[in-house]
Amino acid sequence: MELLTIVVPCFNEESSVEVFFEEIRKTLKNISFEIIFINDGSTDSTLGNIKKIAESNANVKYISFSRNFGKESALYAGLKNAKGDLVCVMDVDLQDPPKLIPQMINTIENEDCDIVATRRVSRAGEPKIRSSFARLFYKLFNRISKIDLVDGARDYRLMTRQAVDSLLELREYNRFSKGLFQWIGYETKWLEYENIERAAGETSWSFWGLVSYSIEGIIAFTTVPLSISTFFGIIFSFIAFILIIFIVIKNLIFADPVAGWASTMCFILLLGGIQLFSIGILGKYLEKTYTEVKNRPIYIIKESNIKD
Ligand code: UDP
Ligand code: MG
Repeated sequence: MELLTIVVPCFNEESSVEVFFEEIRKTLKNISFEIIFINDGSTDSTLGNIKKIAESNANVKYISFSRNFGKESALYAGLKNAKGDLVCVMDVDLQDPPKLIPQMINTIENEDCDIVATRRVSRAGEPKIRSSFARLFYKLFNRISKIDLVDGARDYRLMTRQAVDSLLELREYNRFSKGLFQWIGYETKWLEYENIERAAGETSWSFWGLVSYSIEGIIAFTTVPLSISTFFGIIFSFIAFILIIFIVIKNLIFADPVAGWASTMCFILLLGGIQLFSIGILGKYLEKTYTEVKNRPIYIIKESNIKD
């Protein structure tokens, strides 16, 4: 390896940036590396802190967005500007232990693989309900999509230049990184570690944020939900068909008077509900298609110290 690039997205991380850099410098004493900090529209002094570090360290680069575009966009910007032949992606909050980097480099160089990814084997420090939902999501996702996500997989990973170039070819606007990382394929080795709580600051993920992120993932990687309406359509047409025969025969033989208002209402409500649900799913895909065809840039750079 000649050069290692570390890509670090930062959103309101003023208290983590310096600690992170110190930690990396200590860990990578004998390795030639560059760091690209991506300031994703922070509203605190994250950018100022990054600039301070960049002033005295030539290998520290930064890209600052014009607003918050999200971690996925920040990752794309970082990968695009990475010059290294190995590229590492990690969070700034030290939840991704830097001491794994030498081990990752060793693995990628000596074992036959293109990606070394990491996975948390515990979710210590995380609310129980969040962990159970996360597990449920992975089960559901893997069942209905063609790619397999690994439970507890972090975005923290080391990739070869070839894998990075493949990722950069996926230029979609709605970026679900966890899926994209899997989608490109390549031989991946997994390193496992215990969950570590943030060094400072707070996670920017709310519970509902995670739920909507999961929906994004499903919409981005499978169209199975679109078949749900077809499925219900077939089932209910079949039931209706049987019922019609049943009612006709019943009326012919028994000349039954009109009855069953309540059951009719229930059926109408149920069908209405399923129809709206299906339209909602359709709308979700349409929304994604809409944002894709607009072909807007994935991010906008306000300032940077990277010169091409
Ligand atoms: N992040 C970002 N843009 C955002 C949200 C987060 O660049 O809109 C960065 C954040 O600064 C951190 C990483 O993405 O370096 C992961 O965020 P966080 O620690 O909040 O997520 P968690 O570790 O809880 O999954
Ligand atoms: Mg974190």
